[in-house]
Amino acid sequence: MSPWPPNWHAEDQLPAASPFSYRCGRCGTCCRDKLIQVSPYEVGLLAEFLNVSTTILIQQYLNGVHLRRQENGNCIFFGENGCTVHSARPEVCRLYPLGHRISAEGTESFVHLVPHPASQGSYGESGTVAEWLEQQDVEQVRRGCDSYAALLQQLLDAMAGQAGNQGGTIDWLVPPKNFTFHELLDIDAMLARYPDAVPETLDGRVARHQEILRKLFM
Ligand code: SF4
Repeated sequence: MSPWPPNWHAEDQLPAASPFSYRCGRCGTCCRDKLIQVSPYEVGLLAEFLNVSTTILIQQYLNGVHLRRQENGNCIFFGENGCTVHSARPEVCRLYPLGHRISAEGTESFVHLVPHPASQGSYGESGTVAEWLEQQDVEQVRRGCDSYAALLQQLLDAMAGQAGNQGGTIDWLVPPKNFTFHELLDIDAMLARYPDAVPETLDGRVARHQEILRKLFM
């Protein structure tokens, strides 16, 4: 194992079959001074884990669309023994120390993120990138995040064709329906406006939330 990725080059794109393994050193440097952006799906996952509504989660743990930080720069969810929401952590936290790329042609690859100089993590080649993703249970979270990214793009495309649109920014979505940006992406707040048959599972609520957004804006 090594403190730097073997044969590391900043521009390297790693296909899923690339040799890769990583051992966390529990130093916490990857949870400090980071801007962790979360999708509505990740908000739902964290809210379910903490047994609060997405509205409370947003109010108490987010700054805009990012996880709040403690005064010392640690993530709001970082505790004495590391991540306190480990099984519900966001996609980027699961991927770390890798980043995710999709080319214009749709080809997926991964990159090594530059390790913090004080990081105690160590790299090896005893597995593959694909095995790492499986170990970190990335797939389900990614599907949820991707579904919102695709929906947002559909909404923007739909709006782009409507009269008066300034063109292709989320800001334009807000005035016509009197929703704030956060209300749009707050699953429980939106479902409370349409309370018939609120599904019990997160995936069910996500599907219903996305259905409402489509009906409202497309
Ligand atoms: S959610 Fe957990 S893993 Fe991600 S930055 Fe916060 S403490 Fe670290």
